[in-house]
Amino acid sequence: MVNENETPISDLDVLAGTPRPGRWMARDGVLENDHPLNRVFVPEGAPAPTVDRIPLYEVYMRMAEELAKRSTCARLRVGTVLTDAALEHVVAIGYNGNARGFPNRCDRDEPGSCGCIHSEQNALVKADGSLPRKVAFVTASPCRACAKLMVQSDVGHLFFREAYRDTSGVDILRDAGVSVIHYTRWQRAWP
Ligand SMILES: [Zn+2]
Ligand SMILES: [Zn+2]
Repeated sequence: MVNENETPISDLDVLAGTPRPGRWMARDGVLENDHPLNRVFVPEGAPAPTVDRIPLYEVYMRMAEELAKRSTCARLRVGTVLTDAALEHVVAIGYNGNARGFPNRCDRDEPGSCGCIHSEQNALVKADGSLPRKVAFVTASPCRACAKLMVQSDVGHLFFREAYRDTSGVDILRDAGVSVIHYTRWQRAWP
Protein backbone atom coordinates (compact mmCIF):
# COMPACT_ATOMS: atom_id res chain seq x y z
CA MET A 1 0.00 0.00 0.00
CA VAL A 2 1.30 3.43 -0.94
CA ASN A 3 1.57 5.91 1.89
CA GLU A 4 0.08 9.15 0.58
CA ASN A 5 1.85 11.13 3.25
CA GLU A 6 5.17 10.46 1.60
CA THR A 7 4.36 12.68 -1.37
CA PRO A 8 6.91 15.50 -1.13
CA ILE A 9 5.24 18.86 -0.69
CA SER A 10 7.80 20.49 -2.97
CA ASP A 11 6.20 18.63 -5.88
CA LEU A 12 3.06 20.69 -5.53
CA ASP A 13 2.55 23.59 -7.87
CA VAL A 14 -0.92 24.96 -7.34
CA LEU A 15 -0.94 27.86 -9.79
CA ALA A 16 1.26 28.49 -12.78
CA GLY A 17 1.79 31.74 -14.70
CA THR A 18 2.12 34.12 -11.74
CA PRO A 19 3.84 37.46 -12.48
CA ARG A 20 6.38 37.18 -9.62
CA PRO A 21 8.88 34.34 -9.71
CA GLY A 22 7.62 31.68 -7.39
CA ARG A 23 4.54 29.56 -7.13
CA TRP A 24 1.27 29.00 -5.35
CA MET A 25 1.34 26.11 -2.95
CA ALA A 26 -1.03 24.44 -0.52
CA ARG A 27 -0.57 25.07 3.20
CA ASP A 28 -1.98 21.62 3.99
CA GLY A 29 0.04 19.90 1.27
CA VAL A 30 -3.13 18.91 -0.61
CA LEU A 31 -2.86 20.08 -4.20
CA GLU A 32 -6.60 19.94 -4.87
CA ASN A 33 -7.49 22.07 -1.86
CA ASP A 34 -8.00 25.47 -3.51
CA HIS A 35 -9.77 27.06 -0.54
CA PRO A 36 -8.47 30.68 -0.39
CA LEU A 37 -7.03 30.25 3.12
CA ASN A 38 -5.08 27.20 2.01
CA ARG A 39 -3.20 28.87 -0.81
CA VAL A 40 0.13 30.48 -0.14
CA PHE A 41 2.50 32.19 -2.57
CA VAL A 42 6.05 30.91 -2.16
CA PRO A 43 8.68 33.12 -3.81
CA GLU A 44 11.41 31.40 -5.78
CA GLY A 45 14.09 30.01 -3.50
CA ALA A 46 11.93 30.22 -0.36
CA PRO A 47 11.18 27.00 1.51
CA ALA A 48 7.93 25.18 0.84
CA PRO A 49 5.37 25.23 3.66
CA THR A 50 5.60 22.28 6.00
CA VAL A 51 2.62 20.54 7.54
CA ASP A 52 3.68 20.06 11.15
CA ARG A 53 0.24 19.98 12.77
CA ILE A 54 -3.20 18.78 11.84
CA PRO A 55 -4.81 21.06 9.22
CA LEU A 56 -8.12 22.66 10.18
CA TYR A 57 -9.74 20.95 7.18
CA GLU A 58 -8.85 17.57 8.68
CA VAL A 59 -10.14 18.62 12.11
CA TYR A 60 -13.55 19.56 10.67
CA MET A 61 -13.66 16.33 8.66
CA ARG A 62 -13.08 14.33 11.83
CA MET A 63 -15.85 16.28 13.55
CA ALA A 64 -18.15 15.20 10.70
CA GLU A 65 -17.03 11.59 11.23
CA GLU A 66 -17.90 11.80 14.93
CA LEU A 67 -21.33 13.21 14.06
CA ALA A 68 -21.95 10.33 11.64
CA LYS A 69 -21.82 7.99 14.64
CA ARG A 70 -25.07 9.61 15.88
CA SER A 71 -26.93 8.58 12.71
CA THR A 72 -29.84 6.16 13.11
CA CYS A 73 -30.01 5.26 9.41
CA ALA A 74 -29.60 1.55 8.70
CA ARG A 75 -28.34 2.14 5.16
CA LEU A 76 -25.48 4.61 5.53
CA ARG A 77 -24.31 6.86 8.35
CA VAL A 78 -23.25 10.35 7.26
CA GLY A 79 -22.12 13.42 9.17
CA THR A 80 -21.83 17.08 8.10
CA VAL A 81 -20.11 20.16 9.49
CA LEU A 82 -20.83 23.55 7.89
CA THR A 83 -18.49 26.45 8.60
CA ASP A 84 -18.23 30.06 7.50
CA ALA A 85 -15.81 31.02 4.71
CA ALA A 86 -13.07 31.86 7.23
CA LEU A 87 -13.29 28.41 8.86
CA GLU A 88 -13.69 30.22 12.19
CA HIS A 89 -17.29 29.41 13.03
CA VAL A 90 -19.22 26.17 12.83
CA VAL A 91 -22.46 27.36 11.29
CA ALA A 92 -24.42 24.13 11.66
CA ILE A 93 -24.02 20.39 12.03
CA GLY A 94 -26.01 17.45 10.76
CA TYR A 95 -26.29 13.69 10.49
CA ASN A 96 -28.88 11.60 8.70
CA GLY A 97 -31.93 10.21 10.40
CA ASN A 98 -35.65 10.68 10.89
CA ALA A 99 -37.39 13.97 11.76
CA ARG A 100 -37.60 15.24 15.33
CA GLY A 101 -40.22 13.30 17.29
CA PHE A 102 -40.35 10.49 14.73
CA PRO A 103 -39.09 6.97 15.50
CA ASN A 104 -35.28 6.78 15.54
CA ARG A 105 -35.12 4.46 12.53
CA CYS A 106 -35.63 4.43 8.76
CA ASP A 107 -39.24 4.50 7.48
CA ARG A 108 -38.54 1.77 4.91
CA ASP A 109 -35.83 -0.72 4.06
CA GLU A 110 -35.42 0.52 0.48
CA PRO A 111 -32.00 1.61 -0.75
CA GLY A 112 -32.12 5.29 -1.71
CA SER A 113 -35.63 5.69 -0.31
CA CYS A 114 -35.40 4.91 3.41
CA GLY A 115 -37.14 8.17 4.36
CA CYS A 116 -34.28 9.60 6.40
CA ILE A 117 -33.42 13.28 6.19
CA HIS A 118 -29.94 13.52 4.74
CA SER A 119 -27.05 14.77 6.82
CA GLU A 120 -26.42 17.75 4.53
CA GLN A 121 -30.13 18.67 4.56
CA ASN A 122 -30.16 18.57 8.35
CA ALA A 123 -27.18 20.93 8.47
CA LEU A 124 -28.40 23.31 5.74
CA VAL A 125 -31.85 23.72 7.24
CA LYS A 126 -30.19 25.09 10.39
CA ALA A 127 -27.66 27.31 8.59
CA ASP A 128 -28.00 30.93 7.58
CA GLY A 129 -28.73 30.79 3.85
CA SER A 130 -27.41 34.31 3.29
CA LEU A 131 -23.98 33.54 4.75
CA PRO A 132 -21.69 33.56 1.71
CA ARG A 133 -19.27 30.87 0.56
CA LYS A 134 -19.94 28.38 3.33
CA VAL A 135 -17.64 25.38 3.59
CA ALA A 136 -19.13 21.90 3.93
CA PHE A 137 -17.35 18.88 5.40
CA VAL A 138 -19.26 15.67 4.71
CA THR A 139 -18.22 12.08 5.37
CA ALA A 140 -19.73 10.88 2.04
CA SER A 141 -20.08 12.61 -1.32
CA PRO A 142 -23.56 14.14 -1.64
CA CYS A 143 -26.57 12.90 -3.59
CA ARG A 144 -27.97 15.02 -6.43
CA ALA A 145 -30.64 16.72 -4.30
CA CYS A 146 -28.17 17.65 -1.55
CA ALA A 147 -25.71 18.90 -4.16
CA LYS A 148 -28.36 21.27 -5.54
CA LEU A 149 -29.29 22.42 -2.04
CA MET A 150 -25.65 23.27 -1.40
CA VAL A 151 -25.45 25.26 -4.63
CA GLN A 152 -28.66 27.07 -3.67
CA SER A 153 -27.43 27.97 -0.18
CA ASP A 154 -24.03 29.28 -1.36
CA VAL A 155 -21.66 26.53 -0.31
CA GLY A 156 -18.36 27.47 -1.97
CA HIS A 157 -16.28 24.44 -1.03
CA LEU A 158 -17.20 20.85 -0.25
CA PHE A 159 -14.76 18.44 1.39
CA PHE A 160 -15.80 14.79 1.47
CA ARG A 161 -14.18 11.62 2.77
CA GLU A 162 -15.77 8.64 1.00
CA ALA A 163 -17.19 8.57 -2.51
CA TYR A 164 -20.90 7.62 -2.47
CA ARG A 165 -21.95 4.90 -4.96
CA ASP A 166 -23.49 7.55 -7.24
CA THR A 167 -21.08 10.45 -7.70
CA SER A 168 -23.31 12.55 -9.98
CA GLY A 169 -23.85 14.95 -7.05
CA VAL A 170 -20.17 15.85 -7.29
CA ASP A 171 -20.60 16.63 -11.00
CA ILE A 172 -23.55 18.91 -10.21
CA LEU A 173 -21.47 20.83 -7.68
CA ARG A 174 -18.49 21.19 -10.00
CA ASP A 175 -20.72 22.30 -12.88
CA ALA A 176 -22.11 24.99 -10.58
CA GLY A 177 -18.61 26.25 -9.72
CA VAL A 178 -18.33 24.68 -6.25
CA SER A 179 -14.87 23.35 -5.42
CA VAL A 180 -15.13 19.69 -4.46
CA ILE A 181 -12.18 18.13 -2.67
CA HIS A 182 -11.87 14.42 -1.89
CA TYR A 183 -10.03 14.87 1.41
CA THR A 184 -8.14 11.79 2.58
CA ARG A 185 -4.50 12.87 2.71
CA TRP A 186 -4.27 13.22 6.52
CA GLN A 187 -6.87 10.62 7.45
CA ARG A 188 -4.37 8.40 9.26
CA ALA A 189 -2.03 11.08 10.57
CA TRP A 190 -2.30 12.56 14.08
CA PRO A 191 -4.39 9.66 15.41
ZN1 LIG B 1 -32.34 5.67 6.67
ZN1 LIG C 1 -28.43 13.76 0.07
